[in-house]
Amino acid sequence: MSSYDLIVIGAGPGGYVCAIRAAQLGMKVAVVEGRATLGGTCLNVGCIPSKALLHASHMYHEAGHNFEKMGLMGEVPEIDWTVTQGYKAETVETNTKGIEFLFKKNKIDWIKGWGVIEAPGKVKVGDETYETKNIVIATGSEPSPLKGVEVDNDSGVIVDSTGVLVLAKIPETMVVIGAGVIGLELGSVYARLGTKVTVIEYLDAITPGMDAEIQKQFQKTLQKQGIDFVLGAAVQSASAKNGKATVTYKLRKDDSEKSIEADVVLLATGRRPFVEGLGLDKVGVEMTDRGQVKIDDHWATNVKGIYAIGDAVPGPMLAHKAEDEGMAAAEVIAGKAGHVNYDVIPGVIYTTPEVASVGLTEAAAKETGRKVKVGKFPFMGNARAKAMFQGDGFVKIVADADTDRVLGCHIIGPNAGEMIHEVCVAMEFGASAEDIALTCHAHPTTSEAVREAALALGGGAIHV
Ligand code: FAD
Repeated sequence: MSSYDLIVIGAGPGGYVCAIRAAQLGMKVAVVEGRATLGGTCLNVGCIPSKALLHASHMYHEAGHNFEKMGLMGEVPEIDWTVTQGYKAETVETNTKGIEFLFKKNKIDWIKGWGVIEAPGKVKVGDETYETKNIVIATGSEPSPLKGVEVDNDSGVIVDSTGVLVLAKIPETMVVIGAGVIGLELGSVYARLGTKVTVIEYLDAITPGMDAEIQKQFQKTLQKQGIDFVLGAAVQSASAKNGKATVTYKLRKDDSEKSIEADVVLLATGRRPFVEGLGLDKVGVEMTDRGQVKIDDHWATNVKGIYAIGDAVPGPMLAHKAEDEGMAAAEVIAGKAGHVNYDVIPGVIYTTPEVASVGLTEAAAKETGRKVKVGKFPFMGNARAKAMFQGDGFVKIVADADTDRVLGCHIIGPNAGEMIHEVCVAMEFGASAEDIALTCHAHPTTSEAVREAALALGGGAIHV
């Protein structure tokens, strides 16, 4: 019987990063993964394939909308969907194979199959039981179901985020249920490829939890791109017939019932932890009332030697949060001080323009009872953004009015997902807005807009 220092169950960004760090720290490590390839949801059916399609559809959209303005004349390219799907699959494959390479390099065993925790220190896969000093649960999440909506990814009519990545053809019409990150990213992919997209959302605003000003600007921008929104609407059902779907919903303001037809319905109302078949009740691992694995501040469950990380535990369901927890849990198991700063976890929506945020929104900062000040700068005042036809949008920095300490930053505009990191670093160092304002930023970059927003909090922004 093989025996390990650590067995990680699940090879997503949480699990594979945890395994690599543990191996670097000298542990004998195995990872159990039931999927045919490594990398979890993120690399196989999440972050990576969605970004490949976002990239391809962005290029196509640019060719159709902005090339002529720059004197790049000629026919708009036609979409060969089979080739686009091949490009996406190849992007996924190079990344999942990359994890296989890293496992070999770090001498990590990949145990293929679905793992069951038989007891603390015992993981069964197929007929084989493996002994280990520690177990990390990194089994991730799955799309949440919605009552009345039966997903069938094979038929390609009512699909979830996995099915929408492999549609046989580009649909003429699509209804997206849920205006969260996944729904809007994938909805915008198809909208750019020519699909008429309608998003139905239960709440009265899109992207719940985001800064209110960003929400409004983001919705306006997506509407300009041709996406329709039905807000404050509770979906009652979605049914498929002869390759078409009908969605019924009730408007919350007056309870009136409406329906809409579409070639494809994407159910994107969130994700829930996946711990099916793991045997957690048998070993007595406590769960939260939301079905997540309950952990303490060091990612330990109530059962000695069993830890949990990533989407399976509370907190934002993001790949980089899972990765950070993976590294930290490995360090804790090795007797070191693993640490994750949950106050500085960026969130990015990879539409065009991108939306990125970190830390407190203006409203959340006010709720803490602090005196709050806000510095804003529009991309209309940023030369680089204008050259890219992306002058819509702004940077908003939220700071403590008494100490000038940066509490949060919210950006809608070009490269937002990259720019946010300078504010993350500033926040990690407990920087003031003045620290950002006094830092020389290269010209012409979109990052200058971050500095200008910080300047707006002090002496005043220059380019407004
Ligand atoms: P997962 O990546 O879900 O991996 C868990 C793995 O465990 C799976 O491979 C599963 O097969 C395996 N497993 C489960 N149970 C067992 C078992 N019993 N035995 C063996 N193996 C098992 N996040 C971002 O930060 N940025 C993005 O741009 C982004 N885009 C996304 C787009 C989409 C369409 C989706 C669906 C998600 C996206 N996410 C994004 C979220 C991100 O994918 C997750 O937060 C991340 O994958 C969580 O990592 P994890 O390691 O916790 O779990």
